[in-house]
Amino acid sequence: MKDLQEAQRQGATLEVDVLIAGAGPCGLMLANELGLRGIGCLLVDPKATTAFNPQANATQARTMEHFRRIGIANQIRALGLPADHPTDIAYFTRFATHELARLRLPTAAQATEHVRGLRGAWNAAELPHRVSQKFVEAVLREHAEARTGRPVAFGWKLLAFEQDEDGVMARVVPADDSGAPAHTPVNVRARFLVGADGARSTVRQSMGIAYSGATGVQRQFMGGRMFAVYLRAPTFYEQLPHDRAWMYVSVNPERRVFMASVDGRGEFAFHAAVHPDEDPSGWTHADAKRLFAQASGMTIPIEVLSTGTWIAGHSLVAERYQQGRVFIAGDAAHLFTPTGGLGYNTAVGDAVNLGWKLASVLHGHAHRDLLDSYDAERRPIGVRNTGYARGFADSIGGFQTTPALEADGPEGDALRAHASTVLDDHVRREFNIPGVTFGERYDGSPVITGDGSTPPPDSANDYRPTTCPGGRLPHAWLGGERSLYDELGFEWTVLAPGARRDAAQALVTAGTAAGLDVTLRLCDEPEAREALGDAVLLVRPDQVVAWRGSAVQAPHAIWRQVACTR
Ligand SMILES: Cc1cc2nc3c(=O)[nH]c(=O)nc-3n(C[C@H](O)[C@H](O)[C@H](O)COP(=O)(O)OP(=O)(O)OC[C@H]3O[C@@H](n4cnc5c(N)ncnc54)[C@H](O)[C@@H]3O)c2cc1C
Repeated sequence: MKDLQEAQRQGATLEVDVLIAGAGPCGLMLANELGLRGIGCLLVDPKATTAFNPQANATQARTMEHFRRIGIANQIRALGLPADHPTDIAYFTRFATHELARLRLPTAAQATEHVRGLRGAWNAAELPHRVSQKFVEAVLREHAEARTGRPVAFGWKLLAFEQDEDGVMARVVPADDSGAPAHTPVNVRARFLVGADGARSTVRQSMGIAYSGATGVQRQFMGGRMFAVYLRAPTFYEQLPHDRAWMYVSVNPERRVFMASVDGRGEFAFHAAVHPDEDPSGWTHADAKRLFAQASGMTIPIEVLSTGTWIAGHSLVAERYQQGRVFIAGDAAHLFTPTGGLGYNTAVGDAVNLGWKLASVLHGHAHRDLLDSYDAERRPIGVRNTGYARGFADSIGGFQTTPALEADGPEGDALRAHASTVLDDHVRREFNIPGVTFGERYDGSPVITGDGSTPPPDSANDYRPTTCPGGRLPHAWLGGERSLYDELGFEWTVLAPGARRDAAQALVTAGTAAGLDVTLRLCDEPEAREALGDAVLLVRPDQVVAWRGSAVQAPHAIWRQVACTR
């Protein structure tokens, strides 16, 4: 923050292209996208550094593909659980007693290996990865700082802002705002402001933008207050009488819990449902241990690293994502119940969408209309994804437990057999979600040229790759080895079979003349032909098909629509 401190000392105004409030995954990803495109940005966050608590546990496959695109997927996949640690989701009455259901999933090592052999819905450059958000944030921060050439200004927060025709004037202040001279606000003049400042977003609230949707939904589980414990239980694996998993879920009426492995060596993120007649506000580490004993059914030494409370049962989306030169993204724009693990992943998706568009406008390649497509594209995704998460929460939270589920004898056996059937079905619905992760579409966006075709139906558990404009480019392993995505340019790509070289080249020439960075990739590999068909495809920097056709008659008009070229 040398430049902020310098500006503070001199009473000067600091000038940047983009001011980002909030260095959670959304703000950090946006800084990466902008930094890679040479856009100067300042990222402020009142925290001392990236998150200590684990928070999100699941990085979806599409997010991993974006991490691959910006060159950090291998670094991220090496973090979290050891490479040979299972990533199963398992349900128990209590961790030490009856196992009810389990979805077996590949380890990180197997994921890297298996992905090349997968076809259909899971034909992808990357599979999901089980890694705590705290580790991801540290990597995103390292690269954000290298790519923007500026340290994240931790310890500083956005206080207030106003905008005019040409930009935003913001006041940022040290988070420890004691009123001493060292704490006088600094003026930051930015061309654009992005509020990635979380659920209580100053940016969203200052603009008077409300969340709409459902909140306060009560369920036996994943609806109501939750007590979070970050803990160390070094003997857990020795004492567990079942196979290891990544996610452990306890299903008993005394304490319903989900617990994710953080490092595979004894650290866990434990989240317990609080009963309506309990008040966790005064709960201590002793209460954390009591809850852990209830969920695990084991006497086991644990060290409590931190505790906190949070509310499950939100599916909220901001009424709009933009006001003039100010945008909101991530939790500032939508709030999830964490079933399905979609909050942080949707936040990363917002940053990806906004990043290339801001850069294109700031470089002078695109008209500002391009930025209006951010709300048009991402807000419906916020509604879609919070809806899916809510459906998963209804499914698991609606499953009612009774003491008889743990009883010995035929009645208990029958109830457990029924629970196994229900949970076995549920776990596939919540955790095998290629449709959610790959199936986001921007149909109806002003910068997508539809061609009259109808995309496959949206479905959480199924994904049918399609080149129908508006969705993710279908993936292919070329020669069984090379990811098609690694062959794309960092910005725009025109893909076509060799037989359509002239049409493809016309598109490239027009895009380049408009100042855009356009890569031509002719692909005649059988895998590419099978995945892409024989049309010319225009692929955006975020790997979304913007246009497809067999002939290119008015290339400049195509670019004017999809890239808002001038
Ligand atoms: C228990 C739990 C489990 C979860 N599991 C998953 C999961 O498995 N998968 C998933 O996808 N999601 C999950 N989530 C959700 C996920 O953690 C959030 O969606 C994610 O952190 C959102 O990222 P963000 O960057 O938008 O916001 P945040 O991570 O909230 O970051 C916002 C940042 O803004 C900063 N800030 C606040 N005010 C200001 C200001 N005035 N100026 C500057 N900065 C400011 C804050 O300090 C913070 O660092 C889970 C959430 C919980 C609670």
